[in-house]
Amino acid sequence: MEPGAETSGDAWEALLGPLREEPRRSAVLTDIDGTLAPIVERAEAAAVPAAAREALAALNERFGLVGCVSGRRALEARELVGLDELAYAGNHGLELLLPGEAEPEADPSISGREREAAEFLATAPAALDGAGLRREDKGPIQALHWRGAGDETAAEARARELAVAAGKAGLEPRWGRKVLELRPTGGGGKDAAVASLLAADGVDRAVYAGDDRTDLDAFRRLRELREEGDLEVAVCVGVLSPEAPSGLAEESDLTVSGPDGWLALLRWLAG
Ligand SMILES: [Mg+2]
Repeated sequence: MEPGAETSGDAWEALLGPLREEPRRSAVLTDIDGTLAPIVERAEAAAVPAAAREALAALNERFGLVGCVSGRRALEARELVGLDELAYAGNHGLELLLPGEAEPEADPSISGREREAAEFLATAPAALDGAGLRREDKGPIQALHWRGAGDETAAEARARELAVAAGKAGLEPRWGRKVLELRPTGGGGKDAAVASLLAADGVDRAVYAGDDRTDLDAFRRLRELREEGDLEVAVCVGVLSPEAPSGLAEESDLTVSGPDGWLALLRWLAG
């Protein structure tokens, strides 16, 4: 759709009516940061509003599947959302935490390479601290944040240099909202995450909402599942913000304005 185009009301009914009509056959999948929880200066201070938690809990009672897909580790994602009964795909799909399970399953495709990114940073050509990059250790994924750095532009420039060096070292750099993530190649991805979650029996309709570049992988996979016949209905919701990556609005079936807009849509689905 066109960037900035507003969708609501009739568009919701036309696109998502089939999910409301057959909730047991339907899945609601959502990114967390920037989609359910407003972006805050430091990721550890993020919170999912009580109203969003209530809407997801209500949906989970009626829908075939409600799942959260996040770049956070799966257990951290579940703690943030606060609902043990949902499914969680964490670390951009490298971890899958099913309802009520104590520990996530790790993606076997990166087995033995879990320390590659941490080892790269340990030997990276220059210190991170001087550039204002804040490191977050997510096991196989090492995240470098520059939100709130004294000089965000300089910190981002340093991140770009590191991304090039990491690529040469055989790692995969991925970009998000003021964050660079370094990870082993292959495996995971929000595309793999949605495919794993949607393997649930009896689900053939799905909506996915996200605000960032990595969510576009989920959008693409959802459409492939529809083209392959595994899904009858696939709806991609772009959660817009001033930091939205290029392509988000164009690749969305409908857009909402920030986490408040997605919450309104979740409530409409539950209603
Ligand atoms: Mg997000």
